[in-house]
Amino acid sequence: MATKLLKKSRAVERPIEAGNSAICSACGLPVKFVAKAQLRQVIANVYERGVWNRVEHFHADCYRDAEQPYGEPAD
Ligand SMILES: [Zn+2]
Repeated sequence: MATKLLKKSRAVERPIEAGNSAICSACGLPVKFVAKAQLRQVIANVYERGVWNRVEHFHADCYRDAEQPYGEPAD
């Protein structure tokens, strides 16, 4: 009997890079690069019922405030 492994949503934490134009899924504000601030973002690959659905971006702080909806972010 074959077992189908369903993919789960997952998140990674990355530095915010210049030219980033994503919108934070938690607060709705742009995830913007700020020179010298070394801000972090969380990028989540969201799976619905085992099928990739979308990418969501968060400010790292917003993601933690939202209690990490897609799990602990990997580095
Ligand atoms: Zn935010």
